[in-house]
Amino acid sequence: MANHVPVPQISPVMATYSRFPVTIVKGKGSYVWDDKGASYLDFTSGIATCNLGHVPDQVKAKLEEQLQNLWHCSNLYHIPNQQELAALLTANSCGDQVFFCNSGAEANEAAIKLARRYASKVKGNPSPVVVTFKQSFHGRTLATLTATGQEKIQQGFSPLMPGFQHLPFNDTEELYQLYTIKPAAVLLELVQGEGGVIPAELEWVQRLAEICKENDILLMVDEIQTGMGRTGTLFAYEQYGIEPDVISVAKGLGSGFPIGAVIAKEEAAKGFEPGSHGSTFGGNPLATAAGVATITQMTKTNLLEHVREMATHLDQQLQSLKEKFSIIEDVRGKGLLKGLVVKGNALEIVQKAIANQLLILTAGQNIVRILPPLTVTKVEIDEFTNKLDETIQSIEKGE
Ligand SMILES: *Cc1c(COP(=O)(O)O)cnc(C)c1O
Repeated sequence: MANHVPVPQISPVMATYSRFPVTIVKGKGSYVWDDKGASYLDFTSGIATCNLGHVPDQVKAKLEEQLQNLWHCSNLYHIPNQQELAALLTANSCGDQVFFCNSGAEANEAAIKLARRYASKVKGNPSPVVVTFKQSFHGRTLATLTATGQEKIQQGFSPLMPGFQHLPFNDTEELYQLYTIKPAAVLLELVQGEGGVIPAELEWVQRLAEICKENDILLMVDEIQTGMGRTGTLFAYEQYGIEPDVISVAKGLGSGFPIGAVIAKEEAAKGFEPGSHGSTFGGNPLATAAGVATITQMTKTNLLEHVREMATHLDQQLQSLKEKFSIIEDVRGKGLLKGLVVKGNALEIVQKAIANQLLILTAGQNIVRILPPLTVTKVEIDEFTNKLDETIQSIEKGE
């Protein structure tokens, strides 16, 4: 038989995700469409990635322009978009220099490598330790899953990487351990995303930053989920009155185009020199075109102010749902990164919401995670509220 394509007995895609029964083929703004033409209100933003909504015009235009000229060029040569994106990231943060890679895990991997090499090369510490926190999430590579403070992510991957220790999150008392561990660096999320939408407490973060400063410990923040405007400022650390030495970003940086970056202060950046780290695709002309257009849109318009306004409105709507339904125990988060603590199974709510053409996420067993695009409107937040209201009602009725 001509053109015979064997029908696979098992999925040709490895089973690393349990997928919802929806096939998304198109997106614009806050909506996506499935292969049958049905639309869904998307309050996941590709997990905090499509922060400007789907297929944002300004990023699309910049990518189309770059597509005409050059797709890839080795880092052995200068890449104008990369230079421009690095300049934008440093101008809009406390950092001085940027390393580009392709994902969040790679950004944290680079941050960890930078901390280790800074410790060994600049400080003469041959076996540096990096402290991270319980319930954290830092990625899926061997080093970043070891950094991650969740056993379920580490199961079956022993032997884990040496050189990591986990402390309890938001626990000021336990910070005394830093005096004995004497780590080279501390890596933390300012809102734990995957771990359950848990904001770091202001006093705890400030105490941690003080200890780091007094003891020459690099303060590294994982802003892969909290960065790129998600919490109402370009980076969440701005709301904590601290200046981290290293910031890792990814997710929202390319509006859906894969890119990651590590932004470091000049001193910490001394850890790397030509040859000490690299990436074939890192800072690629297309990815950095997306990055330039994304950060320009975030910093040259009133988008961040809009995020803060929409966050207040979303908060009010979630609080009113909490009053109405006893199944909702708490509303938490920062900016447009929100979590609902629910009684029972969060996954059931997420699954039932799909029937109401609403996409939302979980963050662990009993947390519903809500991540609208930063461009979301009041009307869309109200539509979301109605859909979630209907979803919870149908669960309460046992439908
Ligand atoms: C998503 C995420 C990562 C991992 O990013 P990938 O691009 O999936 O590798 C790391 N840290 C945090 C806080 C994240 O939310």
